[in-house]
Amino acid sequence: MPKPGTITAVKGFRDVLPEESRRWRELEAVAAEVFGAYGFGEIRLPVVERTELFARSLGEATDVVEKEMYTFVDRDEASLTLRPEATAGVVRAYLENGLVTSDPTVRLFYRGPMFRRERPQRGRYRQFYQIGAEIFGRDDALVDAELLVMLTRYLDAVGARATLELNSVGDARCRPAYRDRLRAFARAHLDALCADCHRRAERNPLRLFDCKVETCRAVLLRAPRIADNLCDACRTHFDEVRALLDRQGVAYVLRPELVRGLDYYVRTAFELVAEGLGAQNAVGGGGRYDGLVAALGGPEVAGVGFALGVERLAMATGTTARSDARVRVAVLPLDARAVPPALALATRLRDEHWAVALEASGRSLKALLRSADRRGARLAIIIGEDELRTGRATIRDLAQRRDVKDALPLDAAAAELSRRLDALDEAAPARSTDA
Ligand code: AMP
Repeated sequence: MPKPGTITAVKGFRDVLPEESRRWRELEAVAAEVFGAYGFGEIRLPVVERTELFARSLGEATDVVEKEMYTFVDRDEASLTLRPEATAGVVRAYLENGLVTSDPTVRLFYRGPMFRRERPQRGRYRQFYQIGAEIFGRDDALVDAELLVMLTRYLDAVGARATLELNSVGDARCRPAYRDRLRAFARAHLDALCADCHRRAERNPLRLFDCKVETCRAVLLRAPRIADNLCDACRTHFDEVRALLDRQGVAYVLRPELVRGLDYYVRTAFELVAEGLGAQNAVGGGGRYDGLVAALGGPEVAGVGFALGVERLAMATGTTARSDARVRVAVLPLDARAVPPALALATRLRDEHWAVALEASGRSLKALLRSADRRGARLAIIIGEDELRTGRATIRDLAQRRDVKDALPLDAAAAELSRRLDALDEAAPARSTDA
């Protein structure tokens, strides 16, 4: 516990320490590689957008817009919001940068922090990170299937075991009638529904399915389902997506009550659920949003995409044992005079991409060796009075606990140093700390 008076991070905001961030880097690198094979380029977006962008795209009566956005008034009185998700920003950028006119079929992926003022718990934070991808300009079932194939390939590649849950949420033709049926159902069951659900039933009945209250959920199990109320075009599209996934051997389960938390989804909607994550078990989700580009002032351009939660992906896949700063060599200056040559030697080695620990002078050799050992170094290069006089540094094999026969010329060129140490490093037995 920090001492009283110490400044701590804000509730729901957390630090990502080296061991975890190394895993994140891998998750991101694999995404860039896998998504690249499917023709995606990376877009980097601002974290702040005009509030209106989210109000217009996510839907006024969604939990995110009503309760969870970090919104503030800027000095020029503009209302700004820390992005709660990135699709709206990608669409804005797609329109603003003229991508829509140069080639409306564009594939973009992104990564970065999102902000939602949710109740923090394990796997749920107020700043969290997503990796996501969007395809614009195609409304055929093939791209939905392609996107889902890519997603499952990516999850396999990072070792995440997740179930793909799939549904179709209809479109502007079939959803209004369904919405009315759902509202009628809710009105007939008002006694069993919470106050939030009363409001949802009137303003945006699809959001009833977002309710986390157990008794409401039980009632909603009996509600009419969108999947049974699709128009012919939506039904055909969904059948085609499923047939392609079946042919490709992509496993999924149908979830007829899956509607996703945001208003802009049409037709294909999906979630990825992992085991062993507790209550917050969705590692990702997405779907089709054919009306969104037009709703944000652009032409009628179709879109489909997904977002994965990086914290949950990392939890679902575990960390790798390898450590980031895998120190191989420690340079140990024994006194102040040894410091400049020690820094020079360490720098030359680091230029050759050796991970070097450079210890402070003035401690006993024993203490320095212990510290080098603790950092996992295999070899220690000792520079003391004798070494300065002879111009040759002693090399200690830390695993064998003895000095290597040939001392190292302090002025040896970087490549020569590297060659010598490479040979010694390879000959040294593997250290337990590396396992
Ligand atoms: P959504 O668009 O809300 O379905 O979010 C997509 C994914 O982002 C989810 O499946 C989660 O993995 C992740 N995610 C969403 N909200 C949070 C949060 N508050 N904390 C951590 N991860 C989140």
